[in-house]
Amino acid sequence: MSAFTNAMRQLDLAASAMHLDAYTLERLRHPQRTVEVDFPVKMDDGSTKLFHGYRVQWNDARGPFKGGLRFHPQTDLDEVKALSFWMSIKCAVANIPFGGGKGGVTVNPKELSKTELENLTRSFTRAIADVIGPEKDVPAPDVNTTPQIMDWLADEYGKYVGKPSLAVVTGKTLDHGGSEGRGTATGQGAYYVFEAYREKLELDPETSTIAVQGFGNAGQEIARLFHHHGYKVVAVSDSQGGIHDENGIDIPELIRLKKETGHVARIGDARDITNEELLKVECGVLVPSALENAIDADIAHEVKARMVLEVANGPTTPEADMILAKRGITVVPDVLANSGGVTTSFLEWQQNMTDEHWTEDEVFTRLKPIMDDASAAVMRAADAHAVTQREAAFIVGLERIDKALKG
Ligand code: GLU
Repeated sequence: MSAFTNAMRQLDLAASAMHLDAYTLERLRHPQRTVEVDFPVKMDDGSTKLFHGYRVQWNDARGPFKGGLRFHPQTDLDEVKALSFWMSIKCAVANIPFGGGKGGVTVNPKELSKTELENLTRSFTRAIADVIGPEKDVPAPDVNTTPQIMDWLADEYGKYVGKPSLAVVTGKTLDHGGSEGRGTATGQGAYYVFEAYREKLELDPETSTIAVQGFGNAGQEIARLFHHHGYKVVAVSDSQGGIHDENGIDIPELIRLKKETGHVARIGDARDITNEELLKVECGVLVPSALENAIDADIAHEVKARMVLEVANGPTTPEADMILAKRGITVVPDVLANSGGVTTSFLEWQQNMTDEHWTEDEVFTRLKPIMDDASAAVMRAADAHAVTQREAAFIVGLERIDKALKG
């Protein structure tokens, strides 16, 4: 099933559980605007190549469209639509004044030189410049897109409109208007959400073990935080494969090695495992932090965790959701679990709009209550409607969007 089909099934389930207004449901089944561009990029060998990119603006009833840009060879319109829709729900769950959007370019950035990557980013920015803006649509990092890429985007957009315009994009470097804490915010936010659920599920740090699929920005940080707080992280993987050690992996050392070698390398007594094996590892909390559809129905039967904390977007298919629910495994959904990233983007945007710069402490002091409120609202809705945490998160988000649409 495609990511977008899955997203619409999630929408339908929540809409029927809460009796969502028929017009709101219809509105949320379609993006407000889809921008598809082919744009030229000057390559190092002197040739010019065309690339294909997207910006899908789902809904701005609650504020400017907001969401990341993904550079990935598998990125297509279906995926960007799903991610854009999920951003609308996510911003509403976090209760920040943004709508949802997402963009991407079909490219393997690992095959480009730094100059080519910069040319690609600047050319893509010019191609979408008319539809973005600090009060219109605010992009951010996502899979394979870095703070440096966001700096290029802000700079190119500033040239295009003829004045500096830092608030057009979030996730920038600290030297170019970025916020303290944004780099680690998705992991940090997920940890706050985890803590809110930990009490409910009575998970004990002494005995709970963790498995993390995906060792990019968010995966590294959530693994580091679990390790830091005394949990044993027993398995970690990235796109090239993973490692497993029942006695726990030295995460700071693994992060250092990943920086050095570019992938998750075997350390200590760890043995190699595949990505699929990682999802079936005996653990307390399974943290998918890679791509969509990682946990399908077959895998769901073999998940051994008590909780799935979705740091990736869309890692669990609707069929898998049903199986996990039947098996009593709590899925803390992406639109809540990874919303610390976009929430800190909101804090960055606020700082840019008011020309302020807050310390990391100030940023996280603002982030934590937002995550706590969102977690509490979702748990309350799950109890009130007797539904899964995902349906509950959707209900919370949909109620807020519905109100704004009617506003
Ligand atoms: N790409 C992140 C997400 O999926 C962050 C988006 C943002 O900061 O706007 O939530």
